[in-house]
Amino acid sequence: MDCLNQRNGLLKAAAGRKVNFNAGPSKLPLPVLERVQVEMMNFDGKGLSVLEMSHRSTEFAGILNDAKNSLRTLLDIPDNYKIIFLQGGGCGQFSAVAMNLIARKPGRTADYIVTGTWSAKAAKEAEKYGKARIVHPKSDTYTKIPQCTFNEDASYVYYCANETVHGVEFVDVPDTKGVPIVTDMSSNILSRPVDVSKFGVIFAGAQKNIGCAGVTVVIIREDLLGLAVPECPSVLNYKTQADANSLFNTPSCFGIYIMGLVLKWASSFGGVSRLYKQNCIKSDLLYSAINNSNGFYSCPVDENCRSMMNVPFRINGGDAALEKKFLEETDSENMMGLKGHRSVGGIRASLYNSITIEETEQLVDFMKDFQQRNCAL
Ligand code: PMP
Repeated sequence: MDCLNQRNGLLKAAAGRKVNFNAGPSKLPLPVLERVQVEMMNFDGKGLSVLEMSHRSTEFAGILNDAKNSLRTLLDIPDNYKIIFLQGGGCGQFSAVAMNLIARKPGRTADYIVTGTWSAKAAKEAEKYGKARIVHPKSDTYTKIPQCTFNEDASYVYYCANETVHGVEFVDVPDTKGVPIVTDMSSNILSRPVDVSKFGVIFAGAQKNIGCAGVTVVIIREDLLGLAVPECPSVLNYKTQADANSLFNTPSCFGIYIMGLVLKWASSFGGVSRLYKQNCIKSDLLYSAINNSNGFYSCPVDENCRSMMNVPFRINGGDAALEKKFLEETDSENMMGLKGHRSVGGIRASLYNSITIEETEQLVDFMKDFQQRNCAL
C-alpha cells in the first residue's frame, strides 16, 4: 500500500511538468528525479539522505567513485587521464585553466579561439594570469569557426566546444601540432562521441547534459598536473584535487550524486552512441523546420557549425512583436525556456540529451502552425 501511495505520489508530482527547453540548468531525465525522490529520506537504507551525509563516509565514496567510473566508461576516458569534480562552475574553470596551465611554458601565453560569449569570457579571465592570444581575425558576429594560426610556444590552445548562447559548435578537433588542447564542453558533453585522447583538459559544468548546478567535471591528462602558478587557490589546483580524489575540501556532494544518476541513466539509454543518434534526429527536425520556412525562421550560424544542443533562431528577421507572441503561445502550450539569451535576443531551443524526439516534434509542429498563422501578417 505504501509503495502504491508512493508511486501515485510520484505520478502526481510528474503530471503538469512542462517541456523544458532551458539552456541550463535544464531538464533532468524523469527517472533521475523519481529516484532522487525515493532516496531523499533514506539513501540505500543508510538512514539519511545524501544531503546529510559526510563527504568522508564510505557511502559517499561509493557515490563519487561510481560517478567517476560511469563517466570513464561512457566517454572511454584513457587511464592516463584523471577525473576531478570541482566547484565554481564553468566560469571558475576559466580562471582555473589559466592558473593551472599558462605557466607550462616560460612566456605564459595561451592561444584562444573565440567563437562566442563563453570563449570570450575565458580569454578575458586568462589575461589576469598571462597573455591570451586570439589566433584568428577578430569578428563582431559569432556565427562561424574561424581559420586559426596556432603558436608553437603556446602553453595550451583553448576553445569552447559548443557556444551555448550563439549556437556555434565544433565538429572537428583543431590540429594544434602537439600543443595541449583545453576545451569547454559544458553544453555538449556526452551529446556526441569524442576522442578524449586528443585533449589535454576537458571541463564541463554539469547543469546542462550531466546533472545539476554546483559541480564541474574536469578531465585532465596526467602530465598536465602540477604546473599551477603558486598563487593558484588549492581548491582550484588540479593536482591537489586529483591527489585528494576531489576531496581536498567538501565537494558538491548532492551535485555529484545527481551526476552519478544522470550518467547511469545515460548508460541505460544506450550510451553516447545512442544519445548522439537521438540528438542528430532532434536537431535535424528543428534545423529542417528553420531551413524549410522560406525565411520565416532563420538561424544566423553557418551550416557547418550549427550546434546540435542549442539552436538560436529569429522570426521574420527579428520581428520583436512576433517573437514575443511566439514565446507567449509556446508558454501556453506548456513549452518553456525558449527565450534567446538576453545578449542576443530572439529564440533559442536547447535540445540536451534528456529532451526527447517527441518533445522536439511538439516544438516543430508548433513552429509550422505558428508560421501558417502568422507569415502573411
Ligand atoms: N561555458 C559554457 C559553454 C556555458 O554555457 C556556461 C554557462 N551557461 C559557462 C561556461 C559558465 O558556467 P557557470 O555559470 O557554471 O559558471
